[in-house]
Amino acid sequence: MTILLLGGTGEARALAALLREQGREVIASLAGVTRKPEDYGVPTRIGGFGGAEGLSAWIDQNRITCLIDATHPFARRMPFNAAAAAERSGIPRLRLLRPEWPPGPDWRQFDDLEAACRALSPPDRVLVTTGREDLAPFVKRPEIQFWIRTIEPLGPLPGHMHPITARPPFPLDHERELMRRHRITHLLTKNSGGSRAKLDAAEALGLTIMMIRRPAPPGGPVAHDLGSVVAWIKETVAS
Ligand code: NAP
Repeated sequence: MTILLLGGTGEARALAALLREQGREVIASLAGVTRKPEDYGVPTRIGGFGGAEGLSAWIDQNRITCLIDATHPFARRMPFNAAAAAERSGIPRLRLLRPEWPPGPDWRQFDDLEAACRALSPPDRVLVTTGREDLAPFVKRPEIQFWIRTIEPLGPLPGHMHPITARPPFPLDHERELMRRHRITHLLTKNSGGSRAKLDAAEALGLTIMMIRRPAPPGGPVAHDLGSVVAWIKETVAS
């Protein structure tokens, strides 16, 4: 069997290593958004497929027998393309989604960045860790100070948007120091799950936590850890 692993997350990389150890044939796929993607240790292709149709054609050409979608919980398009392509090509598909953080009692939760930004007012000082995709809601609020953390550097920004370029992991001490240094009052993040360091630091410093809710995944099987993926692959092979 040949497994297509849609990556872009730490879990995808860990899964690639685990499956390789188990002697499975895996091809990893990355969107190509980071300039220096981390090594998956398995054959890796980079770049979009051209929508669900393109992905289905690629699956057929490369004789893929099952698909594991380990893209980020906030990846909006790829999980739906993966679902449609797997159905079209008649192969089984599994979504790997790391568990969400359970909501804290004082969290303010929002469906999108626009709504979160509307809830801010001066003199709020906001650490933003929601990624680089959608900066427009911050541009529209020049009276608020934003520190925007991304892995890849951002282009020129207006004066009220301060870039921070850094690659995770970010330990608790690092997060606390960063928040203190910039006198941050609000942490604006999305419920990606994984390390809680920034949440713990924000809570310890008494900051307001503003959380973007996860988008709903497509229907179909979901695994929350690597062990469940391995079990699903065994079942899939057996059937
Ligand atoms: P997206 O909206 O779901 O994807 C946009 C397009 O990028 C897709 O339609 C697809 O192009 C291509 N693509 C995405 N993942 C791919 C993969 N693993 N292999 C090949 N092509 C892929 O996702 P996004 O939010 O732009 O994120 C892009 C990548 O960064 C994803 O792999 C995701 O896991 C990772 N990431 C996203 C976030 C986030 O917060 N959104 C955070 C960390 C990492 P085609 O339609 O042409 O195939």
